[in-house]
Amino acid sequence: MKDIHRLFIKSLFLIMITSITISSFAQLNFDAWFTNNSMRIDYYHSGTDKTEYIMLKEIRKEEFWGGTKTNLIDPFNYGSYRVKVYDSVSNTLIFTYGFCSLFEEWQFTDEAKILQKGFSESLIIPYPKKNIKIELSSRQFKGNSFDKIFELYINPFDVNNKNEKTVSAEVKQVHYGNTSDKALDLVFIGDGYTVNEKQSFYDDVTKISNYLLNLAPFKKLQSKINIWAVAAVSTESGTDKPHKGIWKSTALNSNFNTFGSERYLTSSDYHSIRDYAALAPCDQVCILVNTETYGGGGIYNFWNISSAKNAYINQVFSHELGHSLGALGDEYYTDEVATEDIYNKNTEPYQQNLTTLVNFDSKWKDMLDADTPIPTPVSDENISKVGVYEGGGYQAKGIYRPYMNCMMKALGYDFCPVCHKTLEDVINYYSE
Ligand SMILES: [Zn+2]
Repeated sequence: MKDIHRLFIKSLFLIMITSITISSFAQLNFDAWFTNNSMRIDYYHSGTDKTEYIMLKEIRKEEFWGGTKTNLIDPFNYGSYRVKVYDSVSNTLIFTYGFCSLFEEWQFTDEAKILQKGFSESLIIPYPKKNIKIELSSRQFKGNSFDKIFELYINPFDVNNKNEKTVSAEVKQVHYGNTSDKALDLVFIGDGYTVNEKQSFYDDVTKISNYLLNLAPFKKLQSKINIWAVAAVSTESGTDKPHKGIWKSTALNSNFNTFGSERYLTSSDYHSIRDYAALAPCDQVCILVNTETYGGGGIYNFWNISSAKNAYINQVFSHELGHSLGALGDEYYTDEVATEDIYNKNTEPYQQNLTTLVNFDSKWKDMLDADTPIPTPVSDENISKVGVYEGGGYQAKGIYRPYMNCMMKALGYDFCPVCHKTLEDVINYYSE
């Protein structure tokens, strides 16, 4: 057993809210507002540790809409950013979702204190039939509110909206559960696989898929999941390892040594990633990098990146999917004093598997036995008991996790009942 905190790079989860409200919205008629294509709004997210700006690059029309056509208003309210789409004439709210980004992680670095830097990002929505207004809001750190950072009126018939494929790649469906509007579509894209390594990429996707589809809660939800493999071809094999002077020309421009951390594997080229993701109906971007070197990362509704040839790939991928699909927090911590206050202990984090006890009623309280003490002692007799165990979210004190051990805490465990339920709720949202 290896402690994840020694292996995983911190996924920095920002910002909190006091409660998760599952609101009931009147269902919207998808066909009245949208076509079966996607609209992609490419931009640069720039700023410093304390500022952020959005600079529009371009608007694109993509072939597929992979998302739900039923749940157009996202009930979860997870993530650091909120996207809201309005009909610009009636001001009717017609689509929402949340996500996190690499930019916000960079804001915690020392570099962000002295430098203004930009990161490529995209907003993806179903392609509208009428003029829309789109708003992007940022959750304010240590608070419960969102600040609007970008607003744009878009005419879907504008002749400058790009309607072309910029890349091509072979696409295979590895697992079929249901039609894309009734299923979670996981799209695996290879990076650092040359044309002669295409079969190796398909083998890696098959291996991970077989593991995932036999892991709870995914096993019982197989009919609600589609898995696609987009065999992006790279000029060179492998990936960048800047700390070793190794540079490879690859389709998705992945690299280690992100933010000075040797094991943090990311890409600075989100728009190329989206170009390949657009070749299949896509709800989740899963990037497999052709390297044995341990590394990975998962950012909510942004990406899941992992080292395909590493011995721990199945567990690492699944852990990162907890972040990228379920917005789950890391349940691990160290006894060292945390250098950054990632979580605000005066408010309740949006991550469903962590609590500050500020508003525990909004979390897994209904899954506790009546006699379970809060906090719950770590002991042999509690090993299979949902409780409130102190330590989680990188902090030994003041943040609590639901289970003694979980996939979100250490490699080699299953998802705990709370993470299990969170992931199941998200998959049902995509497949209703
Ligand atoms: Zn858990």
